Amino acid sequence: MTRNASAHLPPIVFFRNDDVNELTPELIELTALLVAENVPIIHTVEPGNVTEECVAWLLRQKAEHGRLVELMQHGWNHSWHGVGEFGGDRSYDDQYRDLSRGKQIMDDKFGDQWFPAVNFPFGPYNQDSIRIVGELGFTVFNGHFNPRLSRRLFYKVGRFLKRGQILGKHVSYHLENYARTDIFTIDVVLSYIKKYHGEHGSIDCDFHDLETLFARYDSARRFVNIIGWLLHHRFHHTPASMRLVGDSITELRSRVPDLEFWNFEEICRAHGRVK
Ligand SMILES: [Zn+2]
Repeated sequence: MTRNASAHLPPIVFFRNDDVNELTPELIELTALLVAENVPIIHTVEPGNVTEECVAWLLRQKAEHGRLVELMQHGWNHSWHGVGEFGGDRSYDDQYRDLSRGKQIMDDKFGDQWFPAVNFPFGPYNQDSIRIVGELGFTVFNGHFNPRLSRRLFYKVGRFLKRGQILGKHVSYHLENYARTDIFTIDVVLSYIKKYHGEHGSIDCDFHDLETLFARYDSARRFVNIIGWLLHHRFHHTPASMRLVGDSITELRSRVPDLEFWNFEEICRAHGRVK
């Protein structure tokens, strides 16, 4: 369904890394791994939590590695308000305050060194959240695309009805404008994590193995040409979990010889969204 939107492009993969707040060994190591592979890493920054030390480091990485390090906004401070950080019963005003103060911090700390894309902590949002994303002038909204048949049928219905959500569930407009807005949508497809353990902030999870990741990647490729892989650096604190990321990049390159690794700005440019 979205194949045509990018049919003129080579197969593309992007990596989004969530929950950037403090400077940690995992953040440093994961960034170094992707940069060494010449693969862009898109860091989602929690503006309400990011430390000065981390800001300075991110800016140095950006200055040193250019397109390989991209910065975007991850909500406000990753706090829990019923169903997630946004959406649910939160009012327009309440959500506006958090997203706008987050964007202000991004502007103040990163100037023109961040890309105006946003995603919502934990995933949930509502139509007020999206309206605010448009009002604040974000170029990209970043959600989730699930290639399973039942989900694709659901997306089809949602798109026919021009709805961004049905019963609070995200209708993917991957590589097109979100329903009834000018906001370009880039959705992620794959997560390395199979199961989280404990509350948010925990560093304990089960990862998918390489075989499962590639079964999912192959199935998604039948429907979308640009496939996002989701990382959470804090969970990659063992050599094996770091190796899983390196191995998946090696495997991607060997499976798909004409594959390219892009950041959001490049994906937007190829779709006429930025100069
Ligand atoms: Zn998050």
